[in-house]
Amino acid sequence: MHDHRAIAKVMDLFHFEEHSPGMVFWHPMGLRVFRQIEEFMRQVYHSHGFEEVRSPVALSRSLWEKSGHWGKFGNNMFVVGSMQQDNSVEGEGQSADSVAVNLNYALKPMSCPAHIAIYQAQKRSYREIPMRLMEFGIVHRNEPSGSLSGCMRLRQFVQDDAHIFCREADLLDEIGNFLNMVKELYAAFGYHKFGIKIALRPEQRMGSDELWDKAEAVLINACEELGYAYELSPGEGSFYSPKIEVSLEDRLGRSWQCGTIQVDFNFPQIFELSFVNQEGKLEQPVMLHQAVLGSMERWIGILLENQGALPLWLAPVQVAVATISDKSADWAEAVFARLKGMGIRAELHADDATISKKIRELSGRKMPLIAIVGEREAAKGSVNLRRLGVSVQEEIAFAQLEEELSCLGNNLSAVC
Ligand SMILES: [Zn+2]
Repeated sequence: MHDHRAIAKVMDLFHFEEHSPGMVFWHPMGLRVFRQIEEFMRQVYHSHGFEEVRSPVALSRSLWEKSGHWGKFGNNMFVVGSMQQDNSVEGEGQSADSVAVNLNYALKPMSCPAHIAIYQAQKRSYREIPMRLMEFGIVHRNEPSGSLSGCMRLRQFVQDDAHIFCREADLLDEIGNFLNMVKELYAAFGYHKFGIKIALRPEQRMGSDELWDKAEAVLINACEELGYAYELSPGEGSFYSPKIEVSLEDRLGRSWQCGTIQVDFNFPQIFELSFVNQEGKLEQPVMLHQAVLGSMERWIGILLENQGALPLWLAPVQVAVATISDKSADWAEAVFARLKGMGIRAELHADDATISKKIRELSGRKMPLIAIVGEREAAKGSVNLRRLGVSVQEEIAFAQLEEELSCLGNNLSAVC
């Protein structure tokens, strides 16, 4: 079983419905996984100088027109109509039915204009620059139904959507910071190899060729100077900037874009962004758009397909304690309580089903560790440990299990 949807079904993580194509219904166990990744990301982003923000999902048409999304990305956006009576558009005595739908909002396909609004809500000083904002942004993109493919291509997803407002002189450091985050985060999930492409100006674009020359040169120089091998991908940049694209391969060798960073001189001009520099004069920042994992859902899909299950630090339940009979119930409860006390996500299976039935069910759910407890283990203060994918059980002292798991508990790092 390799398809992430099939794995998600046996693990009870999420499902899809016909009435909401391209959108995920997260189940309790799946949301645990999602939250665990989110919390880990939050820590990594914070340690790299980012502050988390949250912005609305629906933003006005006028803002999207100004950012250029309405004209250049409009076919991919979900436009929101209002059927409510609105005196500004509706004559007296007209019923709501006779009022044309007002298409005044669009669901954000990315968070850039919202983060620009946060930047512009205050007068900015050089002391705040580089300003690094990040959001777990809920974004919507109206992908054609034929291209939808489980978590790999969705119409609604959450991306780690970050924007940096900095000086031109900061660009190399900021791109280096991004590539370090990519290395650190991908390694935590077991990926030590990733591809880098530099996507250059597309045919449909905004801004002068001079700015595009400059932005493309910055990305190429950064990869050269920082020693990253890259391929050029002409015509594949977004309409406002070129970008570095970081991709991972799935088990079929298909390449999926995950991380990205984009150097953008255009939005700062259009939105007239500024900060007061050290000389007391107004200066225009450069904007970087970045996502390290990209779509969280796609990330989880690739992880499930590549690993066939979830690593111990991400598993919704890490250890299941299963009794052989009633006689070992007290020891099983003590083991369960101690694991919970350590912050381990544990479950207790002390019902009277046979141990082979319990093991079959728990293995079917891809439980990473099953701690089997019988009279013998109760007498010795041990457990019989069954690891996912390993057919031989090993009896170990409970203290040894505690030690093995001690780095998991509340510690989110995968590297233990
Ligand atoms: Zn952006």
